[in-house]
Amino acid sequence: MSDKRLIYLDNNATTPTDPRVVDAMLPFFHNVPGNAASRNHPFGWAAEEAVDYARDQISKLLDVDSREIIFTSGATESDNLAIKGVFEMYAKKGNHIITLKTEHKAVLDSCKKVEKMGGEVTYLDVDDKGLVNLADLEAAIKPSTIMISIMWANNETGVIQPMKEIGEMCAKHGVLFMSDATQAVGKIKTHPKELGIHLMAFTSHKMYGPKGVGALFVNRKNPRVKVTSQMDGGGHERGMRSGTLNVPGIVGFGAAAEIARKEMDADAARLSVLRDKLENAFKENLEEVYVNGDVNNRMPHVCNISFKHVEGEGLMMTFNQEVGVSSGSACTSASLEPSYVLIAYGLGDDLAHSSIRFSLGRFTTEQDIDETIEMVSKGVNHMRDLSPIWEMYKEGVDLESVVWQEH
Ligand SMILES: *Cc1c(COP(=O)(O)O)cnc(C)c1O
Repeated sequence: MSDKRLIYLDNNATTPTDPRVVDAMLPFFHNVPGNAASRNHPFGWAAEEAVDYARDQISKLLDVDSREIIFTSGATESDNLAIKGVFEMYAKKGNHIITLKTEHKAVLDSCKKVEKMGGEVTYLDVDDKGLVNLADLEAAIKPSTIMISIMWANNETGVIQPMKEIGEMCAKHGVLFMSDATQAVGKIKTHPKELGIHLMAFTSHKMYGPKGVGALFVNRKNPRVKVTSQMDGGGHERGMRSGTLNVPGIVGFGAAAEIARKEMDADAARLSVLRDKLENAFKENLEEVYVNGDVNNRMPHVCNISFKHVEGEGLMMTFNQEVGVSSGSACTSASLEPSYVLIAYGLGDDLAHSSIRFSLGRFTTEQDIDETIEMVSKGVNHMRDLSPIWEMYKEGVDLESVVWQEH
């Protein structure tokens, strides 16, 4: 990277590690070398004590018992452990899982694996705002249903699902409620027990902690939930996840949780003002912009927006030397596929292809936002100036009725 000032607005992909977190971690690389599972010398005890402390910091953030936190390598592993682990553990009760089409790939691909292992998975649609339809959800429950897995907040749009209502439904029907809460933990209040969530996956590197460490909350009482381990070895983490604990990473994760608990309300309030400034400026400066997802049930730091008739990847190239964001298209081998999340919201290919996700974070400044507004608006105007489709649109041609020549 050059030494030019860069603006980072891709905090949903990963957050920078908070310098206070780094400070907390440093001693655990060298001065405290112990393995938390070494029970017979002070090095091991110090490591174990540090892990216990971090576990407490994380359980305080979630308002759960520290014995309900299982450390993993990240949310991908936590999702795998929750879904495959429940599928295997509850095989006698049933084999059916319900989830959404807009879940993260870690959930969707774990569900696909469950199908290969003989399970049955229902992938529900969402409405045009990205929300689950509760009547559809209830109708999908059957006697063989063991679990509903619905993410708290969507990574692409920030849309927040009706967690309380889903929790009540799960309790009523006696099915487990699992949530991938990776994008919500540390940003908004996430107390699983209040909402009847039995399993909850999250990760350190989306909340200003280090990469490569995550956790799964597993409810211990009423009901006592168990998952079959997916990683076998020394029986760490109450037998649910073997492997030497990443002590420095866990210490950082704990520090990040404590900072989040104290500062997330202030961060959220500040970021929602900046996010709204960004969004409103685009709406005022430019024509044909569409915000994706339910603006009334949305994370405070995320803006997913489509600039109609502008190809998102091309638009990004006009400013990606200065601003880091994410487009609504994923590069899969040769072709650019539009986001499956936005397609599930009912966006046409054109709007899905023209979407950009701006995700702000703790270190985003007002100057970052002002400069981004300027650069992106300029980029959109530039792209539209070059676009024959935009010209046709401005001339009043009904683009829907145009019959395009096949090549
Ligand atoms: C980032 C993310 C994950 C994966 O987390 P890792 O710790 O990188 O494995 C899973 N689910 C959601 C919703 C995410 O945003």
